[in-house]
Amino acid sequence: MTEAATVVPMIRMHAVNKHFGPLHVLKDVTLEVPRGEVVVVLGPSGSGKSTLCRSINRLEPIDNGVIEIDGRPLPAEGKDLARLRADVGMVFQSFNLFAHKTIVENVLLAPVKVRRVAKDEARRTGMELLERVGIANQAEKYPAQLSGGQQQRAAIARALAMRPKVMLFDEPTSALDPEMVQEVLDVMTNLAKEGMTMLVVTHEMGFARRAADRVIFMSDGEVVEDSTPDAFFTAPKSNRAKDFLGKIL
Ligand code: ADP
Ligand code: MG
Repeated sequence: MTEAATVVPMIRMHAVNKHFGPLHVLKDVTLEVPRGEVVVVLGPSGSGKSTLCRSINRLEPIDNGVIEIDGRPLPAEGKDLARLRADVGMVFQSFNLFAHKTIVENVLLAPVKVRRVAKDEARRTGMELLERVGIANQAEKYPAQLSGGQQQRAAIARALAMRPKVMLFDEPTSALDPEMVQEVLDVMTNLAKEGMTMLVVTHEMGFARRAADRVIFMSDGEVVEDSTPDAFFTAPKSNRAKDFLGKIL
């Protein structure tokens, strides 16, 4: 085997199946996210993108198949699962910040509770992260006092505070007013440049073209295409992808 073939991907899914009752939402899904790469997941509504994300940190248990993070199978429960979740940061469409805590408290909460970091240190790191996402001056405010774009950047800082190995984004800009989309995409682009491994579900085709190392197209629970952004956008192979691009571009 060549050396490249032995490198462990950050996320590996192999033949993963998931049903909701009679509905088959993940059909033999196989994909890899190599360390340091940005993989963008595209696909119509209801194609299974959120379920895919949620299965990766076991917010949704799968029926069968293999999911490994950094070479280790997903633990089913307990301390090992908590550790795994700390390694896999997740950012959702709805920001899910704690409304009754300030922005900096939102960011330092999990490191203090889960990683047992001292509060002073967690606050220092939290302020650095808020600086990085450009909202250090909002640290003492409450979520409702911030714009949607600022709240989503706070949510990204909060996820980063756990020092994750990989970040999952599930339509992070879909709930934002149009003028706030770019500031969140800029933060994500910077993260990618810094070498973060990322799996990003998005409808932002500009981001997919510019930031993605690979594009995965899902339709009806299946991975239909797995290619470079250039190949996907200029010459999609399947009719399903052609239809999708025809509607969205
Ligand atoms: P996407 O994120 O691509 O829009 P989802 O992963 O949210 O797709 O959903 C895939 C399919 O699974 C859809 O048909 C959706 O209605 C269904 N689904 C999602 N979550 C649940 C659930 N908790 N219970 C039942 N059906 C669900
Ligand atoms: Mg979704």
